[in-house]
Amino acid sequence: MARKIARVDKSLCAACGACQKVCPRGAIYIFKGIYAAVDSNKCIGCSLCAKECPASIISMEKLEVEA
Ligand code: SF4
Ligand code: SF4
Repeated sequence: MARKIARVDKSLCAACGACQKVCPRGAIYIFKGIYAAVDSNKCIGCSLCAKECPASIISMEKLEVEA
């Protein structure tokens, strides 16, 4: 089984917090005020954060999980 999760390009993240605000699951936190990080256990792959990021640095990637 595969599901999608959001992945942030940390090196380009401005830590603006826009993705964090829009996430319905509270899956994104700003690590030490430097970059956004996604909690893969909470992310449901809705891609709202990817649409919201002004820098377009969030990509959705497939995560293989054991059924
Ligand atoms: S894909 Fe959806 S649930 Fe996952 S981090 Fe982005 S907004 Fe949150
Ligand atoms: S919206 Fe984009 S630039 Fe802003 S904190 Fe999230 S990933 Fe970083």
